[in-house]
Amino acid sequence: MLLQNKQIAIVGGGPGGLTLARLLQQNGAAVTVYERDRNRHVREQGGTLDLHDESGLAALRAAGLLDEFKLRYRPGADKLRLTDKHATVVLDQHEEAQTDTFGQASFRPEIDRGPLRELLLDSLQAGTVVWDRHLADVQPEGAGWKLTFHNGATATADILIGADGANSKIRPLLTPIRPFYSGVTIVEGTVYDSAHHAPRLHRLTQGGKIFALDDSRTLVVSAKGDGSLTFYTGCKTVETWARDSGIDFSSAAEVLAWFRQEFAGWDGIWQELFASETTQCVSRPQYCMPLDQTWPARPNLTLLGDAAHLMPPYAGEGVNMAMLDALELAHCLASGQFSDVQAAIAHYEQHMRHRASVVAEETMAQTEALHAPGALTYLVNLFAGGK
Ligand SMILES: Cc1cc2nc3c(=O)[nH]c(=O)nc-3n(C[C@H](O)[C@H](O)[C@H](O)COP(=O)(O)OP(=O)(O)OC[C@H]3O[C@@H](n4cnc5c(N)ncnc54)[C@H](O)[C@@H]3O)c2cc1C
Repeated sequence: MLLQNKQIAIVGGGPGGLTLARLLQQNGAAVTVYERDRNRHVREQGGTLDLHDESGLAALRAAGLLDEFKLRYRPGADKLRLTDKHATVVLDQHEEAQTDTFGQASFRPEIDRGPLRELLLDSLQAGTVVWDRHLADVQPEGAGWKLTFHNGATATADILIGADGANSKIRPLLTPIRPFYSGVTIVEGTVYDSAHHAPRLHRLTQGGKIFALDDSRTLVVSAKGDGSLTFYTGCKTVETWARDSGIDFSSAAEVLAWFRQEFAGWDGIWQELFASETTQCVSRPQYCMPLDQTWPARPNLTLLGDAAHLMPPYAGEGVNMAMLDALELAHCLASGQFSDVQAAIAHYEQHMRHRASVVAEETMAQTEALHAPGALTYLVNLFAGGK
């Protein structure tokens, strides 16, 4: 097989990198994942994710992890309420009986990021993930690569895979193409113990999700299994807004002052999101990779997930694309279909770029539609026509 006697380094232990590590280990490959987090518990993992049958769930099926997923996903967390700015519910999936299930394209079960990461980590051979390895530099060494980390540690690899997300350190080795600003900036936050800190919103969310759309602005709220609510606002603004605003996003009071102004006329219920000083916020301008991006395939280097095809979150495809990349890359490298690693990478990248481009185009259209007048009617009609 192509990977015999090859040491593979995956930089980034997100859903894409960990899925790839699992799939490659199933094929007997020698894999190490280098992750910047200091250990598996150090970082609060973000919100909840719906996995799609043809991508995220397909990868878990191939990885032999679907039964484990069924133990950890959150039934009912995919139920959505659509509201206007007054929190008037115009579409309520809680009122619809759940008829779809695993194996059906319409079934998109939700799992929190933390449990998804745990599930993948638990599936790997001991020692696969090396924590506290924040990549600082990569240099060619012989026919492979030398990696240097911020803490001074080094490592070598025959094949290097960048699964290091939106600000990938590895991507510039392959291409100078940079993402473009989508026009929307989000403010993302978490309300801990929402039953206590945001009781009305906690009840409105009912263990599922809320999409509130009005005034060309969006607010997405999701319940998590640990009793918190995660949320993100979406506003059309300039790329430098967060930097220039002077807002200290770690201060709930400062973010609340901004929210009151920016979302003026919205019901007071939404302000519960910022009522507790324990609410943590961060601003994130949303970027998208150019739809026509391309680069020549290298013999020992490639990308997956956000590092390859960052896009805004409005079609819920980022994690699903990252996990499908892992499935397709592992298949290309391990199937015996290709004469050398470069041919396998070339085939994977060509297909991956095309697939991601189609999804990114849909995502950008969705991002625009959700932040335009009439967004609520648009989304109601979209749901009426099927997800
Ligand atoms: C607010 C928001 C909501 C979203 N909602 C959804 C959704 O509902 N559904 C969906 O499918 N997608 C969603 N996404 C997108 C999704 O989170 C990403 O597409 C997905 O996490 C990409 O997976 P990945 O493995 O490629 O990268 P990441 O999840 O970003 O993982 C990258 C990993 O690499 C590590 N890393 C980064 N740099 C280095 C370095 N230099 N050295 C070592 N390690 C490094 C990071 O610590 C991280 O563990 C959302 C994104 C945002 C911002």
